Amino acid sequence: MTSTIARPIRARFSAAALRHNHAVARHHAGGARIWSVVKANAYGHGLERAVDALADVADGFALVELEAALALREAGLRQPILMLEGCYAAEELPSFAEGRLTPVLHSLAQVEAFCALALPVRLPVYLKLNTGMNRLGLEAEELTRALAMLSMTASAETVTLMTHLADADGSHGVAWQMERLTAMRAGRSLPLSIANSAALIRFPETRCDWVRPGIMLYGSSPFADQSADDLGLRPVMTLESQLIAVREIAAGERVGYGCLFTAEQPTRIGVVACGYADGYPRHAPTGTPVLVDGYRTRTLGRVSMDKLCVDLSGLPEFDVGAPVTLWGEGLSVDEVARAAGTISYELFCALAERVPVIEAD
Ligand SMILES: *Cc1c(COP(=O)(O)O)cnc(C)c1O
Repeated sequence: MTSTIARPIRARFSAAALRHNHAVARHHAGGARIWSVVKANAYGHGLERAVDALADVADGFALVELEAALALREAGLRQPILMLEGCYAAEELPSFAEGRLTPVLHSLAQVEAFCALALPVRLPVYLKLNTGMNRLGLEAEELTRALAMLSMTASAETVTLMTHLADADGSHGVAWQMERLTAMRAGRSLPLSIANSAALIRFPETRCDWVRPGIMLYGSSPFADQSADDLGLRPVMTLESQLIAVREIAAGERVGYGCLFTAEQPTRIGVVACGYADGYPRHAPTGTPVLVDGYRTRTLGRVSMDKLCVDLSGLPEFDVGAPVTLWGEGLSVDEVARAAGTISYELFCALAERVPVIEAD
């Protein structure tokens, strides 16, 4: 008989934390309805899992992946689904009708394709306006054209205007984009959707009819100067592993590939079963925070594919098998991301297939 024991790394997923964070978003939203943004596999948390957790409280879900959206419909999801990048080819539009998906039309070509098809059902549509992000969206004169085209088709049930904010979490703020939006709307009283997490929290004037929080639902702060804790958000994903080796190294000894860390004194180090193939960022330098059985310490040397090393100076009681938290409960993902020169979004999305996800509550 053979038996296997799983490698100790796992991601704990808290449905309760996700629902709690959605309630925080609800509080900020006032009366606005909430698109829960679940693109990129719910920011790495698992689409089905996230949608299940929010099924009773969500007004709608927003993503970009057509197959995933259709799978949600097939699984019986009833709420509206917003397709944030619209369709990539006109041939996809019949699937939109089949799945009753709400397309975000962001170019005249998309609007034309939508109007050219006699869809079997009427779909709500979003028109995306470029107010300064300069990625996707219609310009003012294109909006006029688009509305004229949509008014001639029976396929559009409702039209909502949408824009995306470039720096709601930063120094440029939102006023300049709000001004452009007001000018583009030219008094038209169509429903509006503007706010991402940062705008939802900081700029009540962006709430309008529908808000689109993503990152805050997963318990990470959209701001560099305010922690998730301060915002009342709880981590949904906790990445955990264990020490799989412990050793004492002499002063002058080096650790890991590239010999990037040199011990200045005799040092006790631990080896953790977690590396960049699990989604831990390889560019996290020595000193990135990590918890060993709840005690805060730091990484040492270069992160390798399956392992990283941690400093056990002052933690002599911990040996092989001691639990390690890479981020999540007790150690904010935002802190780890900052130390690694990135943002939580990237860490979440990078969580690897091979890491099993355990539903905690
Ligand atoms: C991803 C996304 C959001 C969510 O942004 P967060 O910063 O995660 O809140 C909102 N709107 C659009 C169009 C998006 O692509």
